[in-house]
Amino acid sequence: MRAMNAEILTIGDELCRGEIVNTNASTLAQRLWDLDITTRWMTSCCDDADDITSALRQAVERADVVICSGGLGPTEDDLTVDVVAALAGVAPVVDETARARMESFFTRMPGASVNPGLAAIQLRQVRVPTGARVLGNPAGLAPCFEQSIYRSLQGSPIPVFCLPGFPREIAGIWESTLRARLAELREAAGSVERIARQIYRAFGRGESQISQLCRGIVDDVPGATIHYQVKFPETLVKLVVRDRDQATADARLASMDTQVRERLAGVLYGTGADNLVAVVTKQLIATKRTVATAESCTGGLIGELLTSLPGSSAAFAGGAITYSNQEKIRQLGVAKATLVTHGAVSEATVREMASGARERFGTDLAVAVSGIAGPDGGTPDKPVGTVWLAIATHTAVKTKQLAWPGTRDQIRQLAAWWALSLILEEVKS
Ligand code: ATP
Ligand code: MG
Repeated sequence: MRAMNAEILTIGDELCRGEIVNTNASTLAQRLWDLDITTRWMTSCCDDADDITSALRQAVERADVVICSGGLGPTEDDLTVDVVAALAGVAPVVDETARARMESFFTRMPGASVNPGLAAIQLRQVRVPTGARVLGNPAGLAPCFEQSIYRSLQGSPIPVFCLPGFPREIAGIWESTLRARLAELREAAGSVERIARQIYRAFGRGESQISQLCRGIVDDVPGATIHYQVKFPETLVKLVVRDRDQATADARLASMDTQVRERLAGVLYGTGADNLVAVVTKQLIATKRTVATAESCTGGLIGELLTSLPGSSAAFAGGAITYSNQEKIRQLGVAKATLVTHGAVSEATVREMASGARERFGTDLAVAVSGIAGPDGGTPDKPVGTVWLAIATHTAVKTKQLAWPGTRDQIRQLAAWWALSLILEEVKS
């Protein structure tokens, strides 16, 4: 069984100076992965003909397919077409379809003369290597193209796809032509491996504990591997099964499902693309339950998460950000005596915050958070990272204490996710 290995080559000075983040590499790799094409190498280089040439030479030596982004524009620093043409031993030529599109684009622009004609500099952008397969660009002017470049050792032709740098244009090209073309190449390559995969999403314990829980799960399953990704504050457990046959890969993946769920009981909250925010919001909407928030150290973060998805107004009524004691009293009705006796970061206070919020907002549920996010403000009995949470329902108020000494941002994030997790516990049952 052979994998189809890809190399992604991202080109641009701005990229190498750190002025833009290389999102093209990650989105392209994700898209290839969805097609069962494994990205083995990611390379970046400057807008320099020699550098692009050597990067491309290296890529075709080792990869089965090469995807480049950047350098298809009209300016002198846009060199991809020239370099690829030179490596293929052909001359660049204007692609007539792309030229016609460009002409009509400029003619339709406000203030354009009837037949402006295109300047040489503009025509640079619609060139492709002679004989290249042109894949178009529905969201832009520079056409994507595929050009084979010969590998020196085995002498086989390696398809090199050249895309513009703009992420929006890449998305359009991917959907309109590139995805189908790559799938076709993959099929043509014959017995290329197929990949089945599942993402399990776990929250509430650290990566090392989660990996301990899953120990040995893939050992007896042929072609299976397990991977962990910390996406603070959650951990993703990824199961991958590779086989020549898709149905076999799918069946082997499914055979591990029950065991993974058993091992991760209590921390597994979902699978696939939906994170905790999406799972909670959908579950609240599905069960027709409403929620309000009473936030201190999270400063509105829980409300922000609960409003991030469209349609969340069906579930989220509102919240109070009560940072000072005075506001906890004024907006939520927390008793002054509770604050004096137990302090703002205490079980007694979050209880009253949660029930106060539920009453005032008239919701089914209310969550409350009060904690010490640091870096200052900790005491020996309430160190930085001490967070109290409460959830009020029609019948009870439950509480939870966290003690996790992270950075201020991490503590706030963790507290907000725990609040979501408490909501999920209520709406699941
Ligand atoms: P043009 O020269 O017409 O602008 P181009 O095809 O030559 O287009 P680049 O100049 O390399 O492409 O990049 C155009 C823009 O696309 C950049 O300014 C940047 O905003 C974005 N871009 C380029 N490369 C990347 C990348 N690897 N990841 C994310 N964005 C990128
Ligand atoms: Mg450019």
